[in-house]
Amino acid sequence: CKDADQDPIGSCRTCLVDIDGVRGLRASCHTPAAEGMIVRTASDALDGVRKTVLELTAGMVDRASIAPDGAVTGVLDGELRRYGAGTRYAAQANPHRDDSSPFFDTDLSACILCGRCVAACQDVQHIGAIAVAGSGRDARIAAFMDRPIIDSICTSCGQCVSVCPTGAIVAKSPAGDAAVRQVESTCPYCGVGCGIRLNMDRHDRIIEVLDQPGNPSSTGMLCVKGRFGSSFVHHPDRLTHPLIRRNGVLEPASWDEALDLVATQLVRHRGSFAALASAKGTNEDGYVFQKFVRLLMSTNSIDHCSRLCHGPSVKAMMLQIGSGATSNSYEDYENAGCLMVVGSDTSSNHPVIASRLRRAIDTRGTKLIVVNPMRIDLCDYTDLWLRPNPGTDVALFNSIARAIVDEGLEDPEFIAARTDGFDEWRRSLDAYAPEQTEEMTGVPAELVRRAARTYARPPFSGSCLLWGMGVTQHTSGTDNAHALVNLALATGQVGSPGSGISPLRGQNNVQGCGDAGCLPDQLPGLQGVGADIVREFSQAWGGDLSTAPGLTATEMIEEAAAGQLDCMYVIGENPLLSEPFLAHAKQAIERLQFLVVQEIFMTETAELADVVLPSTSFAEKDGTFTNSERRVQRVRAAIPPVGESRHDWQIVCDVATRVAKLLGVRADGFAFRDTPAIFDELASVAPSMRGISHARLDAEGGIQWPCPTPDHPGTPRLFTETFPIGRGRFVPVTQGPPAAELPSRRFPLILNTGRVLYHWHGGTMTRRVPGLLARSPSVRVAVHPEDARERGIVDGEEVVVTSRRGELRGTALLTEAVRRGEIFVPFVKLAESAANFLTNAAYDPKSKIPEFKVCAVRIDKPEPSAAAGASGWSAADSPGLNGLLLRLASAHAPAPARSARRRPGAAERPRVVRRRAPAG
Ligand code: SF4
Repeated sequence: CKDADQDPIGSCRTCLVDIDGVRGLRASCHTPAAEGMIVRTASDALDGVRKTVLELTAGMVDRASIAPDGAVTGVLDGELRRYGAGTRYAAQANPHRDDSSPFFDTDLSACILCGRCVAACQDVQHIGAIAVAGSGRDARIAAFMDRPIIDSICTSCGQCVSVCPTGAIVAKSPAGDAAVRQVESTCPYCGVGCGIRLNMDRHDRIIEVLDQPGNPSSTGMLCVKGRFGSSFVHHPDRLTHPLIRRNGVLEPASWDEALDLVATQLVRHRGSFAALASAKGTNEDGYVFQKFVRLLMSTNSIDHCSRLCHGPSVKAMMLQIGSGATSNSYEDYENAGCLMVVGSDTSSNHPVIASRLRRAIDTRGTKLIVVNPMRIDLCDYTDLWLRPNPGTDVALFNSIARAIVDEGLEDPEFIAARTDGFDEWRRSLDAYAPEQTEEMTGVPAELVRRAARTYARPPFSGSCLLWGMGVTQHTSGTDNAHALVNLALATGQVGSPGSGISPLRGQNNVQGCGDAGCLPDQLPGLQGVGADIVREFSQAWGGDLSTAPGLTATEMIEEAAAGQLDCMYVIGENPLLSEPFLAHAKQAIERLQFLVVQEIFMTETAELADVVLPSTSFAEKDGTFTNSERRVQRVRAAIPPVGESRHDWQIVCDVATRVAKLLGVRADGFAFRDTPAIFDELASVAPSMRGISHARLDAEGGIQWPCPTPDHPGTPRLFTETFPIGRGRFVPVTQGPPAAELPSRRFPLILNTGRVLYHWHGGTMTRRVPGLLARSPSVRVAVHPEDARERGIVDGEEVVVTSRRGELRGTALLTEAVRRGEIFVPFVKLAESAANFLTNAAYDPKSKIPEFKVCAVRIDKPEPSAAAGASGWSAADSPGLNGLLLRLASAHAPAPARSARRRPGAAERPRVVRRRAPAG
């Protein structure tokens, strides 16, 4: 019954051993070894006892109902065979079956009540969806009130499936034959970077995904997407051939045709070119792409999706401490005395980190502070839940800071030894006493003060500050991040065990994509495009590089819309789902003269491309991903490229070779023979990764950068002694106008957006996994029951959400998780509905992140709807919260309103030009 991930349970007694000097037999799982102890694990007598124990255990299985041949399944079957044990005891039929989950079935006829599944759910994942119910002969594994598992709090992580030794809980219909080999790799979904093992059948199909017990980032856990979300790899929608647009239609083409056309057009549009790299690709893919853009296309205009998630965090952290990376390891969360989770629905977005947070709370008594306008799952575990009004984050964080200095909770030694600007920052807090801000933020002063005390003086160890896109995706995103970093600096909660600052990374390799240099102002190793660094790279790569920062992802759309950008090369990104105000983004993309998209599926962006190049998924790739705790981990190819698809780095090298030829320059820098060679070159130019290589990763497992030399063990915790810029800087920030858009009579509700557990971002991959789609088949619009009642909307009914920019259809989800006056819509696109048809294209002037989180909407039952339009709206018609927000803005931002830059309004927007079919 002992599983590698679990503490001993001691229920099955199969591990009995004989210890010299000890009477009777002992269960070895529960008996600590001691110096000098002599332990016999096998003897005729022991084997005989073990055989009988196994036969008694097998006697709990109702073989007649689980297998026509009377076989016992799973690990237990193997043990019966090993000891020659028979199945001489017969169990009674067990009527408990549950096939309600789209991922696994439960048949308690095969259950031996070992308790592994319950321990996996309660003590590993800390969810508690199942338990042993009843007693004696009626004892059984059950969800709450014996209801189907689908109606429980189960998150479908499958931890129970992975440990069941008899097949009583078993994954639904495995996709292929028996496993013939196993490939160790890294999950392709979120930035947690869980270790996975892919069980492959003889047809090169993934039939099962297992966790990696020894992986330090995931410690034997996976979430539902990691364990059950890989079948998209084999989906018939995979792109298998290059496509070229001819007479307006994308048609199959040969690789040579496609690559020649791409190279010709890129050379033609050199000078008006920008690129989007993929945070789902490997570090090696990213490195080669940015090298091509910088060296041969002569521009720094390359960016990736971090612009749309943690651009503000990086901006703020670079200014204040000289690094935008998470300072701590996940392990620090489990050692912290206090966890403050801000603007992150961690259970949905980073499920395995959420499990580690719950573990800390359950086993160590760690205090949890949640700051979120929505009631998220973690609120069930929290000591303090602060629920700020939308757009009032700076005021709230400043009020926590004010409470800290009011009560003398700051860390004077840390401030004196390691920071600058404290006094000026403290003076900036004058207007933010918790009692002054509580009306605007909606957070009672007493809660603010309690949060300040708990964060500054945790009951033991340190405090970890984790934040997500609820903080950053605002027109004030960078100021929000500054305010959070100020808190950590004032209290010294960074650089010591159990403390740290963590902007939780979204995609699997968003950290690595930036590390590899896919940023418009940073070269590989997160080195700025200053003259000295650029000179070094120019020498290393053999060419003249630009010192001018390139366009950010959001600026690319704006420049394209204005007719100032002619050509884009997009790898693995889908701006026509991820950008705000999608109608406008589409017009911008349509104005490009040439668009090449490199993808695994036909996305909304690829549909508008001139050339589509089929690339490989994580299951075909060889290389590395870097997770949210800076751990570089191996990704290994489990299957060959699908169809004629090729690896991203290979395609870029092929394009680069052709472009170099057309330009009459050498292309030696793109003659990579394999991914270890690419990584070696990346490591040679990125000091923080100089000591890492594929060979080391294969031998030792993942390594956290900085790792400057081959004998360096990696760095679990940053800033223990100093910051990269020497001393940390306090940056005073003030609460500005609350949001780029306020509610009005026509649009009286505030829309919030985010992710859901069962889908990933726009859903390009998860929409193609039947189980995930079954769990979350439509866009659910979360609305408060009172708001729904006023509009005559009932739960599960179709609704239309309209903003000034567009509308979407979804299914009403009546829930008090959202407040009155607010609704929540996930990012995912399902049945042609996507939240970004609604969202606002205004952006944070400092980091250029769009305002994804706050926009004014209305919700109606579907009917022939009036077109959404901006006419007739003014702030003056804003009731309720709107008025409060306006007061807040005037009270705390007496200076001219912050210049949240807007894209052109409808009347100013350039005429849409139909894209011309290129001559090719
Ligand atoms: Fe994959 Fe993230 Fe889930 Fe881990 S938590 S299995 S990395 S999606």
